[in-house]
Amino acid sequence: MPDTPDIPDSLRENLYVAVEALVEHDGLLVALDFDGTLAAIENRPEDATIPGPAREAIVALAAEPNVEVAVVSGRELADVRERVGVPDISYAGNHGLEIHADEYEVHPTASEAEETIAHLCDLLAHQLADVDGVIVENKGVTATVHYRLVADDAVPTVVNAVETLATPRDDVRLTTGKNVLELRPAVEWDKGEAVRELYDRLVPDDRQWLPVYVGDDTTDEAAFSLLDDRGLGVKVGDDPGTEAPYRVADPEAVRAILSWLSEYGVEFLQTDHHAVPVGGA
Ligand SMILES: [Mg+2]
Repeated sequence: MPDTPDIPDSLRENLYVAVEALVEHDGLLVALDFDGTLAAIENRPEDATIPGPAREAIVALAAEPNVEVAVVSGRELADVRERVGVPDISYAGNHGLEIHADEYEVHPTASEAEETIAHLCDLLAHQLADVDGVIVENKGVTATVHYRLVADDAVPTVVNAVETLATPRDDVRLTTGKNVLELRPAVEWDKGEAVRELYDRLVPDDRQWLPVYVGDDTTDEAAFSLLDDRGLGVKVGDDPGTEAPYRVADPEAVRAILSWLSEYGVEFLQTDHHAVPVGGA
């Protein structure tokens, strides 16, 4: 084993599991959440940026043969792609309702919902105009209401307004995350479906690639559940109650895992590329 001083303790403890999983596969699909996973959570979503070393780690990993990297975010696809700043990897935006893997596609029911979402955003912006700190973000096929900056005693006003609008409708569903409420079209779709779709599109039909998913929030649980024991789920942070079997502390630890994968981990994949006889001439 090469000396790898840079890896987080949680990976060091599970290094055998990681190596064993890599050895059993001939490629690697690494799917990553953005906020709280690649970038630190900021009070204002527009302030979230990916550190340079994390971007470089993604570029290095994506350049490896038989490896695909995808970012799977609740953000609008164009927004998260610009923030990551690596144009030639795959992206799933709006929890996968928008996917760009080779080509861009929007879930058909979701694209029909854009007018409804815009209408609801207008109503909420009007109703919540007097609440300091609330941000109503129209993301095209979904909307996010951010209340991280709202005073505690005003949060129920925000929640009530969104619930009152969403609950009676059968074309919209309401989901929650860290200090956010999200309005989505009533399509059975989540980050798990997004990862399944990315795997189908990116992994050659006759290959067995190892799917890895890294995320920090409740919406990432769908991806952890999908992977189950077929891949490696990594939860970022110490929120209780996750389906992910592994944990790391923060985005810097995620960056360290990405660097370890590109520098060392990929060498364990059973690809033709690495099929060199041991002790050969
Ligand atoms: Mg997140």
